[in-house]
Amino acid sequence: MTRGMNGGDIKRANRGLFLKNIALGKANSRIELAKLTGLTKMTAGNITSELIQAGIIEESGPIYAGVTGPAPQRLTICRTAPKIVGVYISRDEIIFSIGTLSGDIIFKDNTPLLSENTDSISQKLVNGIKSAIEKQKDNILAIGVAMIGPIDNDGAIVDSPNFFGIKKLPVKKIIEDNFSYPTIICNDISAAAVAEHLKGGEIHSNFVFIGNSNGLGAGIIHNGELLTSKNLFIGEFGHITINANGEKCPCGNTGCLELYASHMVLIKRLSDAVGKKIYPQDFEELAKIPECDEIFNDIAQKLSAGLITITNLLRPEAFILGYDSYFLPDKYIDAIEHNINSARFLKEDERIKVYKAHYKSESAIYGSIAAVLNEVFKGEILFNN
Ligand SMILES: [Zn+2]
Repeated sequence: MTRGMNGGDIKRANRGLFLKNIALGKANSRIELAKLTGLTKMTAGNITSELIQAGIIEESGPIYAGVTGPAPQRLTICRTAPKIVGVYISRDEIIFSIGTLSGDIIFKDNTPLLSENTDSISQKLVNGIKSAIEKQKDNILAIGVAMIGPIDNDGAIVDSPNFFGIKKLPVKKIIEDNFSYPTIICNDISAAAVAEHLKGGEIHSNFVFIGNSNGLGAGIIHNGELLTSKNLFIGEFGHITINANGEKCPCGNTGCLELYASHMVLIKRLSDAVGKKIYPQDFEELAKIPECDEIFNDIAQKLSAGLITITNLLRPEAFILGYDSYFLPDKYIDAIEHNINSARFLKEDERIKVYKAHYKSESAIYGSIAAVLNEVFKGEILFNN
């Protein structure tokens, strides 16, 4: 942090922190909030009253019956509290959702991307957001976008590979020209990491989320925060070299991990082996075929090589495997965990865990909502006035 905090900043940060604890179920009364945040009971009571008056939280009845004196009231997110519009732009579809301040999704719809250009995608984007908002009776707080990269400083997708040859899709500008809500743009895998951190993996404050599907990327949560560089997203995990004498990658580098261990490669190899097109949902069945089992093991070993590199650089507590990796049978997840722990440099550290994503293959959809929540819980957007 380079700038100091004045009274107003601290007030907003405290409100965000209270909301976070209530929304994520970490505290459900004034007393618990005071304990958890280290603030006095009086200050905790005042912040709670402000959140109730603003229609963000409500008292939903006594926490337990049978005590003498007034029982503490359970605090929950108000059912009519503002909602968040989520937009997930992948290479083959846009998924629109409405999410609550607790990060739950109450509406979801999708629009396939077929043969598109800048205008046609813009149209689909605007129409999808409009129809999601129309189905919503409560206030809209903000629009969160989780999208494929590379993303520039203006919130545009720039020169993304296999994305209809579109040079620049100015997503933030398109949304802001058509809607008056604050718009938060995030790389999809970074957003997925934030979602897993808020709801799924918050037991760890240092972990790396791996999104493996057509491409291969990483979202790094470092000391409880998404790691970025100069405010730009990082984590092009698929383009670290695992074979210096290997194939040339379209990115310009040689022997990139993505060429050997992405699920696009896995699916191609499995499809060739069984002579028909297969899908991630088929992984469990295919693993029973010895020839396919060999392919799974080979890919797991190559992916492990990349994860060991990350481990030696960042010393994470865990890896969370998401997107299509959710469909990998457990024995390969266990094999990856074993590979990492037996080959890493710092062997005396606690065992590094490898989990499947809490949000299964949908972390990025939840990520589009979490991108906004992450700001709200820091005291931004909802508390700006
Ligand atoms: Zn590459």
